[in-house]
Amino acid sequence: MYMYFKPHANSLTALKPLKSEILEPPVHAADTGSCLQYCTCCPHQQLSSSRATAPASRSLPQALELQTNPDATSPDCPKSIDFPAYCGLKPSASTRNRVCLKMARTSSSMADFRKCFAKSKHIVIISGAGVSAESGVPTFRGAGGYWRKWQAQDLATPLAFSHNPSRVWEFYHYRREVMVSKEPNAGHRAIAECEARLGKQGRRVMVITQNIDELHRKAGTRNLLEIHGSLFKTRCTSCGVVAENYRSPICPALSGRGAPEPGTQDANIPVEKLPWCEEAGCGGLLLRPYVLWFGENLDPAILEEADRKLAHCDLCLVVGTSSVVYPAAMFAPQVAARGMPVAEFNMETTPAMNRFRFHFQGPCGTTLPEALAPHENETIS
Ligand SMILES: [Zn+2]
Repeated sequence: MYMYFKPHANSLTALKPLKSEILEPPVHAADTGSCLQYCTCCPHQQLSSSRATAPASRSLPQALELQTNPDATSPDCPKSIDFPAYCGLKPSASTRNRVCLKMARTSSSMADFRKCFAKSKHIVIISGAGVSAESGVPTFRGAGGYWRKWQAQDLATPLAFSHNPSRVWEFYHYRREVMVSKEPNAGHRAIAECEARLGKQGRRVMVITQNIDELHRKAGTRNLLEIHGSLFKTRCTSCGVVAENYRSPICPALSGRGAPEPGTQDANIPVEKLPWCEEAGCGGLLLRPYVLWFGENLDPAILEEADRKLAHCDLCLVVGTSSVVYPAAMFAPQVAARGMPVAEFNMETTPAMNRFRFHFQGPCGTTLPEALAPHENETIS
């Protein structure tokens, strides 16, 4: 899920193309004479030719200003492009600069990835919606992604909740109930198995996920940072206590509610019959889903934890999301900037994938089991 957020200083720093990252030309350089363009208002990157792609979402983080590094400017470079490159999300304020960013060809060699994997001791795996989609979890985003007549960005907001908490709770009740029939897929299982196996060898795997469905947890992943919260946690709107909650239904009034069909009428449940805080001393007030909503910022403590892990990792996998859109765009460049390998596992190819060392196209349920399988010489206790 894409969120609006205020990036912290480290993320901005990490997104700057460093001198050391200027590598060989991209595959399109010969036919267009172009380099890759970086949008000045989001992590989007696109070719400056007619092959440029449209922004994947209008909900990309508007606050993220991608800075360009003066060291990368090369006025004499025939492939230099005029800035600002601009994805259309907001008017660009910057003056025109000339920047040349030369990119490496990304490898799809599983054998080469496996060599990196064999040597790595601290692996961070950043996972996104694509991993959940392979388990059939609806995202309520993009073409056809509706609950009744709304998409996630219409309902997953503080404003929507304050205007109509009953409708928002129906939406989340439906999403919780849907998960009863969803199971982790082979990608989730490969990650969990890898964590357990490498843990016995003194090696560490950390999963940072934007997914709120707990399928990583269900697959057995323990070292997990759910940066957007969970469908199965609540937070009191008064005392702020966060609590696990696996009740089905979460409250009697939501029983049988939450149908997603377009013609369904709102249940209009009175607020006192919606999920309510039972914390001693609170006095009881409305609970909300413990999920990061559009317009909300990530918890600084979670960001710090992610930064700590990223600062020490020697291999980063980006699975089910692109490493140039949020949330991976916040994290993966930090790893690449230290010269560590980043590998994307995604259904899609994009011009931007050239920014990182590996890209494997296809379902994560197919690519990850092969990528994370034991090596012959692994010491397995
Ligand atoms: Zn409370």
